[in-house]
Amino acid sequence: MRAEIKVSGIVQGVGFRPFIYRTAVKNGLVGYVRNRGDAVVEIVVEGNKNNVTRFLDGLRDEKPPLARIYDLTTNYRDDEGSFEKFTIVKSSEDTELSGSVIPPDVSICNECLKELRDPKNQRYNYFFITCTNCGPRYTTIRKLPYDRLNTTMQDFQMCDFCSREYKDPSNRRFHAQTVACPKCGPKAYLTTNKGEPIECEDPIREAGRLLEEGDIVAIKGNGGFHVATATTKSEPIARLRKVKHRTQKPLAIMASDLETMKSFAEVTPREAELLTSYIKPIVLLKKRDDYYLSELISPGLHNVGVMLPYTGLHTMLFDKVKEPAFVMTSANPPNEPIVTENAVAIKKLGSVVDFFLFHNRTIAHRCDDSVVRFHGEDLRIIRRSRGYAPKPIYLKLSVNRCILGVGAELNVTSCLLLRNKAFVSQHIGDVENLETLLFLKNSINHLTKLTNSKVEVIACDLHPKFTTTKLAQNLGNTLECQVIPVQHHYAHIASLMGEWNLKEMVGIACDGFGYGSDGTAWGGEILHCNQEGFQRLGHLQEHPMVGGDLATLYPLRMVAGILHGEIDVEEWLLSNSVRFPHGKKEVEVIVKQLEKELVPKTTSCGRVLDAVSAILGLCYERTYEGEPAMTLESVASKGKDMLNLTPRLKGNVIDTALLVHEIFNQKNKYSVADLACSAQSYLAKSLAQLAVEEAERLNVNHIGFSGGVAYNEQITVTIRRIVERKGFKFIVHNRVPPGDGGISFGQAIAAGFQKP
Ligand SMILES: [Zn+2]
Ligand SMILES: [Zn+2]
Ligand SMILES: [Zn+2]
Repeated sequence: MRAEIKVSGIVQGVGFRPFIYRTAVKNGLVGYVRNRGDAVVEIVVEGNKNNVTRFLDGLRDEKPPLARIYDLTTNYRDDEGSFEKFTIVKSSEDTELSGSVIPPDVSICNECLKELRDPKNQRYNYFFITCTNCGPRYTTIRKLPYDRLNTTMQDFQMCDFCSREYKDPSNRRFHAQTVACPKCGPKAYLTTNKGEPIECEDPIREAGRLLEEGDIVAIKGNGGFHVATATTKSEPIARLRKVKHRTQKPLAIMASDLETMKSFAEVTPREAELLTSYIKPIVLLKKRDDYYLSELISPGLHNVGVMLPYTGLHTMLFDKVKEPAFVMTSANPPNEPIVTENAVAIKKLGSVVDFFLFHNRTIAHRCDDSVVRFHGEDLRIIRRSRGYAPKPIYLKLSVNRCILGVGAELNVTSCLLLRNKAFVSQHIGDVENLETLLFLKNSINHLTKLTNSKVEVIACDLHPKFTTTKLAQNLGNTLECQVIPVQHHYAHIASLMGEWNLKEMVGIACDGFGYGSDGTAWGGEILHCNQEGFQRLGHLQEHPMVGGDLATLYPLRMVAGILHGEIDVEEWLLSNSVRFPHGKKEVEVIVKQLEKELVPKTTSCGRVLDAVSAILGLCYERTYEGEPAMTLESVASKGKDMLNLTPRLKGNVIDTALLVHEIFNQKNKYSVADLACSAQSYLAKSLAQLAVEEAERLNVNHIGFSGGVAYNEQITVTIRRIVERKGFKFIVHNRVPPGDGGISFGQAIAAGFQKP
């Protein structure tokens, strides 16, 4: 009997062909297996019926750990007797199916790690050690099928040793496309900050030593450059912050191992599991009470973002040093994506760093580290990138058109919705200029090519001036397809509905800013959402943003707007005039603007949290996105809800002036921590109460919470408690970021709801 099989899913770049080879040979079958240009694997086997059945069972049940099978079709025919043995044959360029994809980059596996440490092994001390179970994938592939010549490994000719392993069915590197050794593979080297080579025998460990001594080193990884420093000394971090103009933004660090990590941060079993998985993301961990690393790593915050070494190179950095961790922050010039090319690195990072640790392997696609945090046992993905992208998010619903979501403005990703799978791109960043726009376009191209799909509908934000909105319109013209604008907060809630396969929900969407259907700034919304669209049920009170975007940068301006008319704002602002870049003059302008009432207004929850943070003296100037609210959350984690304010609603508008006023009046009576906690509690209680009332009225069972504020643990936990006590199901994100990294997914889902 002859069986012709097509397997789609994640089956290239995961050791699938070698596995098929071994399974076929074990069952005495002849035939072939090959990769195809649509990421599908094609198999033909011939042999007796029982053996073919056993083969097919084995194919499903014993597949390699990273392989995913979405679909498997089998055609049976009569034996043709055309094969003598089973072979892996040359890949075909065939592209007829869509929706398969290659895997994300995979962190170094334990077997490779062991070999790296084994003096008798050929790859002893070799930084680019990989096998069929580990190594770069998404960042190294140029085009399908996943063959060495289609990856950036094509620049390296395999030596006899590697080539023998590559051809040996019993070897772990049988058909491993990234196979390499010190003789034939990529090489690492150290240079000055001008790119002049530095002679040394062991450049990686030398880089580790330089870091320990206090130097700043740019290190090339698999998906881009990191800028690294020591973590126990403040001087290099201060220097790095100064040259990068990053005064406060938390920097991610890489700890040498899990045990060391536990010496400065609290690690729960769930966190440890993900930290050591093949994804190895950055996890935001609570600092221990005896935290001993430099406070400059995440100033003013109760947590620190930590990851473990995920390549051979990273592991070796720690070999000869006592430093427990290194700062490992993405190397990107302001408002530009992470740097991937050696020449660009010298040009753009040369003035920032003291040395470069380069390697000579090209990066095909950049990919930043992923960032997550846990609320108890519950995973919140902040940035879904390395280790996740381009692995799809499976949906229970299915759309019949291929839909592209292009995101909003900040933390953009793109998303391709194809039948029951959503392929979300790696993290792109804030799309405000040419570099990031180009990166977004490339990511869209790469995704459509990898999945062999053709975009039929494009979904974008409702904001007419976003760069992504314009991109959607241009793409719509080029591809001659429909463009559907989706309101920002509806997209947040639609992403929850998509993730959990729900048709209706009362959604709480809280963030910094989203363009409302009435053209005003929204950001503290209660929406009734279903597949037909949404209705705005209620929101936080509108407050003036004195100076527009300036009110986002200087939260005291929000305070002035909220308290105007309640207290003598002018007098209070004058007493704080040093907090304004232009001092008393600026205060006078602010007061004048308030009196004329010619200021834009916002219902943003983020801006209320910012205002409270400023009143409590935690943050007067926002130097990175979310800073005032994040410092507030950190302080609140040590406080109690001493004010215990009762929610006050005016119709369906939550009174937040009351909250800000109370915090202002009580600021000398309670601790900052207790007031911070009380403020978050008031917001959570009010939002939950209004959502519950509306859900009862509308007879809706599910209440969801999305938007950037949903990263806040206390607010999320408080809303959950109230919602669940009232008998409703509380829905939050587990697989998609609640913040704007999840917007492209929500846009695509919302567009998918619409009937063609
Ligand atoms: Zn490996
Ligand atoms: Zn070799
Ligand atoms: Zn948002």
